[in-house]
Amino acid sequence: MSVTISDSVKNILEQIGEDPSREGLIKTPARVEKAYHFLTRGYKMDINKVLNNALFEENCEEMVLVRNIEFYSLCEHHLLPFYGKCHVAYLPKGKIIGLSKIPRIVDIFARRLQVQERMTRQIAETLDDILKPYGVAVIAESRHLCMMMRGVEKQNSFVTSSTMVGAFKEERATRLELLSLLQTKID
Ligand SMILES: [Zn+2]
Repeated sequence: MSVTISDSVKNILEQIGEDPSREGLIKTPARVEKAYHFLTRGYKMDINKVLNNALFEENCEEMVLVRNIEFYSLCEHHLLPFYGKCHVAYLPKGKIIGLSKIPRIVDIFARRLQVQERMTRQIAETLDDILKPYGVAVIAESRHLCMMMRGVEKQNSFVTSSTMVGAFKEERATRLELLSLLQTKID
């Protein structure tokens, strides 16, 4: 008989000196199991289903930028959350993607055990693969609870990671255009 997440959580509760049978904890193992399935649902998300054919031929070569996409992930070293914002840009080459699909692609890779650097790379590579654009840029800024609650206990540090592909990597002007767009304030 295989051990369920719920059994394992019950074991953790015992190991930290708690009583899993007390009223407040009785349903905790089952709740945590449910929460873990939700927090790691990216493993089961299928990119093609997420896209649902929302790719369109379009004669547009201007930069598309989706800013401030919230994400919540779990660090693979401590299973503690890291969360923040992600900015995704691409330079279309005859093909665009439905805008609502970009946050969903972020979710596919955020909702699993991650390191932030890999997450940004996977998002960028996926868009590069689907759209074959001139370039893709993904920048993520986040707070890591494993740094804030334990270890170095630094509450105010942000971790920024970025992946640049194609024109964003090779052309300084494109990169600068992105950086200036990221700084634009919208009232
Ligand atoms: Zn960690």
